Amino acid sequence: MSTYGIDLGTTYSCIARLDANGNPEVIRNNEDDSNMVASVVFFENENNVVVGQAAKENIETDGDRVVQFVKREIGKPDNRIYEFDGKTYTPVEISALILTRLKNLVESQGGTIENVVITVPAYFGLEERSATKQAGELAGLNVLSLINEPTAAALSYCARQFQEDRTILVYDLGGGTFDVTVVKMSMTQNESGKDVQKINVLATGGDDRLGGKDWDDRLFDYILHACCDETGLTPEEIEAETRQDIRSKVEEAKRKLSKKQAAKVRIDVNGSRTEISVTRKDFEDMTADKVAQTMNFVESTLQKVPDVVIDTVLLVGGSTYMPMIKAAVEEKFPGKVQQHDPDQAVAKGAAIYASMLVVEEGAESDNTAEETPDGKISKPAEQLTAQFTVEDQTPRSFGPGVIDTKGSKHKYVLENFIKIGEKMPAIFSKTYYPLENNQERVKLRAFENMSTEDTIIPCVDEDGNPQATDPANNVKLLGELIVNLPPNTSRNTPIKVTFKVDASGVHVEAVNTQTNEVFETFLRTGSDIDADKSAVHQLRISSD
Ligand code: ADP
Ligand code: MG
Repeated sequence: MSTYGIDLGTTYSCIARLDANGNPEVIRNNEDDSNMVASVVFFENENNVVVGQAAKENIETDGDRVVQFVKREIGKPDNRIYEFDGKTYTPVEISALILTRLKNLVESQGGTIENVVITVPAYFGLEERSATKQAGELAGLNVLSLINEPTAAALSYCARQFQEDRTILVYDLGGGTFDVTVVKMSMTQNESGKDVQKINVLATGGDDRLGGKDWDDRLFDYILHACCDETGLTPEEIEAETRQDIRSKVEEAKRKLSKKQAAKVRIDVNGSRTEISVTRKDFEDMTADKVAQTMNFVESTLQKVPDVVIDTVLLVGGSTYMPMIKAAVEEKFPGKVQQHDPDQAVAKGAAIYASMLVVEEGAESDNTAEETPDGKISKPAEQLTAQFTVEDQTPRSFGPGVIDTKGSKHKYVLENFIKIGEKMPAIFSKTYYPLENNQERVKLRAFENMSTEDTIIPCVDEDGNPQATDPANNVKLLGELIVNLPPNTSRNTPIKVTFKVDASGVHVEAVNTQTNEVFETFLRTGSDIDADKSAVHQLRISSD
């Protein structure tokens, strides 16, 4: 098989494929004795770059040569650059190093890898998605598609127990992020009239700064202070090597506490051996507020879809191994909680989806009939194709910023042409008018946001200029289109604005319907965009 699913995680990544019987299996990382590869890169020197657990072991002692949590930076407008030994690396290039490590894992075990599906958080915008795809290509992979992480988890859950229409809340607590997603599985018919199960994302929520690391940090502080109590040293007197020793052992202790009631941690405190004991009860007490935080996000995400009844709650992410998590979620959703391979479900779902795509395209010969060890012939991926269809949906809402001239005061509003969750490709047009007679040009600004409203009023600065961000709706300026107008253009000249969104991005176009001149050079955010945001260059909603 050369088709794989990849969970490119914030803290851990995982790669899976379908075995000869059509069951998803994870490729083991024998070097780290794990099913995962830590998403950590250590630039040891010019000639040696280390990815995985070994890189992680340098965080405290050589932190400035270690890159972690790069997923938070990928596709972000600030274009962060890392520099080591005179070479620069973009987040895409760092991500490609992690993907290359996963690729090498397959190859070192005699496999070949060609086609992949990579998972992304449901809340990723198009920039983050296209950057993730680029990272895959840079690692020499043929990226068939991306799939939302909760959708992949739901796919892997439903491949295990097929059910009719249901609404699933995916609670994904990973190492650095917490994602809540409500997905709907519904029966529908495909073009050839076959019953298929469609998976749609209804709502997303969470925090990209909340995850297992917070539990590690609490345990780290607890053990550090216990070491001080034992030795009479102050925290400042604890050496970097001792800190690294604690750091390395904290995660292991946390994992032990998921299985046992107490864990012992042996630390060399500045050279003298010390043993610290932590009980599960201690650990739960010191992190109870973090559990409560996740449950608040569950609540606020549910409020976005007030009419929805949750049938199943799926626990995903390595941190849901902690018994305190399952207990809290069970308390809120009694009898509805399911947990199966929480740290592998996303990669497995991606592997299922990748195989579905390959069968659809007929692109790969080894996905046809396979003989199983008991002599039966199975066509696993084809069966799955018959069952599922994953609709590509817009990850955000999109629209232009325009002036509403009704009422006594002009208002700068954002009109959502395309709303979050719409089927892609999505297209929408509307006609606007210049704000003034003889206006020389229009600077049409395009925004993305998380709102499902037709119109939102974004933040405006003290001069009344539209701001690119609105924390409540997560409004972001995507870029602008300059529409030059000929002399003597009347303020009633119709300008038709079109937004088209597909997997490759947002396309904005404006047509001066009087001259039929088409404008489509869309300037991305950054230095290209004119700092002058004054209202003179805007379009207004209604004509006179
Ligand atoms: P990502 O955030 O990269 O998607 P994962 O879903 O694999 O990563 O979750 C990684 C987190 O899960 C880490 O913080 C790790 O310490 C934690 N974790 C993994 N296994 C356990 C366990 N048995 N008990 C507690 N935490 C665990
Ligand atoms: Mg994850």
